[in-house]
Amino acid sequence: MNETVADEADVIVVGAGPGGSAAAYHMAKHGLRVLLLEKTEFPREKVCGDGLTPRAVRQLVRMGVDTSEKAGWLHNRGLRVIGGGVRLELDWPDLASFPNYGLVRTRLDFDDMLAQRAVAAGALLRTGVNVTGPVLDADGQAIGVEAKLGPAKEPVQYRAPLVIAADGVSGKLPLAMGLAKRDDRPIGVAVRRYYRSPARANDDYLESWLELRSAQDRDRLLPGYGWIFGMGDGRVNAGLGILNSSDAFGKTNYRAMLTDWLGSTPEDWGLRGEENADGPILGAALPMGFNRVPHYTRGMMLVGDSGGMVNPMNGEGIAYAMESGELAAEVAVQALARAAGPDRERALRAYPAELKIRFGGYYRLGGVFVKLIGNPQIMRVATKHGMPHPTLMRFVLKLLANLTDPRDGDAMDRIINGLTKVAPAV
Ligand SMILES: Cc1cc2nc3c(=O)[nH]c(=O)nc-3n(C[C@H](O)[C@H](O)[C@H](O)COP(=O)(O)OP(=O)(O)OC[C@H]3O[C@@H](n4cnc5c(N)ncnc54)[C@H](O)[C@@H]3O)c2cc1C
Repeated sequence: MNETVADEADVIVVGAGPGGSAAAYHMAKHGLRVLLLEKTEFPREKVCGDGLTPRAVRQLVRMGVDTSEKAGWLHNRGLRVIGGGVRLELDWPDLASFPNYGLVRTRLDFDDMLAQRAVAAGALLRTGVNVTGPVLDADGQAIGVEAKLGPAKEPVQYRAPLVIAADGVSGKLPLAMGLAKRDDRPIGVAVRRYYRSPARANDDYLESWLELRSAQDRDRLLPGYGWIFGMGDGRVNAGLGILNSSDAFGKTNYRAMLTDWLGSTPEDWGLRGEENADGPILGAALPMGFNRVPHYTRGMMLVGDSGGMVNPMNGEGIAYAMESGELAAEVAVQALARAAGPDRERALRAYPAELKIRFGGYYRLGGVFVKLIGNPQIMRVATKHGMPHPTLMRFVLKLLANLTDPRDGDAMDRIINGLTKVAPAV
């Protein structure tokens, strides 16, 4: 076997999505030698809604990304919610902790850009490297990874005292460490497609649909929630998601459902049928509410989707991938400054502990929320009675998008922060 061993890093990061690139960026900024391994070649597509809330924008700013319109970003002011016969435009809240705008950008160049930020900070990016599993020492501690290089699939090992798994929803690397996903946590499935739609391509709001009607039978409500996000480049990203708390989960043809729903939208939007479709309908799972734990074990930290960090309340995953990536970086920097052994392990355990403090209570509430909205009757009543009340909906937006000030917030912030504190962390 033509196997090479490369011993050149303090930390190996597996996966250069938003989580891995954020972790790599922040660690490189602190002077660590970072090896960022990615199985694909950039630029590459990633199935996503491409919508970024102010929470994600804050993380981009922390990575030194210029998010101005001049730099090609489409800004949005908030969320447009459609349901219960009401169409409500809710601006992102004005907060000390978060910017008051969101963004849209295709993952085709978004992920490439973030990986390049990590490289500019000093990380070594290797693409075309398919990581196949961890390298373990005699105590079962990860001390590197095994991979197959390029089209020839040449086997190779990379060694480092710490490995970060940022390999997305498949989570093959944590799985190889024995960390299976937990079935008692929420999970979603979502599908999306691009359409050429000059009528809808430029939008100041991210648009979210609480009720989806079938084109074949307008009286029939389809399960799930939809979105139409203008991309600013003549196209829209239209998609829908469904949660495992819904009876229809796993029993529905999601692609057919997307086509059926879009068939009911106004003709001039251009979303009916195949004519304006740009590419196929693609889908993937959304692992939510910490569905893979612990987030640190035996030399391996889990970041983003790999650790099941999608927000159950709104399906947003990019911000949480980047935020957990930054937190993992901060902990790694401190841990690697200590001698290997119990002292370093103690420092590394701060990562799951801090994640739990930040998101554990909130995700617990999210789990309850997912169960409630899985019931179509509850959802119908909530939409009918909630949507006509803008103040209530502003509260709901803050709650669902997890946008509050931790201190000095308004009454809504204090209620939400209080609720997440009293909910037992998952
Ligand atoms: C249809 C859909 C719509 C969505 N819409 C939104 C949205 O609008 N906004 C939002 O915030 N979130 C959205 N999400 C969720 C979001 O896409 C994810 O939460 C986010 O991409 C997670 O980032 P990550 O870095 O953890 O993982 P990923 O983005 O999945 O990145 C993982 C990386 O690891 C690489 N990799 C995997 N395995 C290996 C391996 N063995 N070796 C080397 N590299 C490997 C992959 O190629 C990839 O580059 C959506 C998801 C879906 C499915």
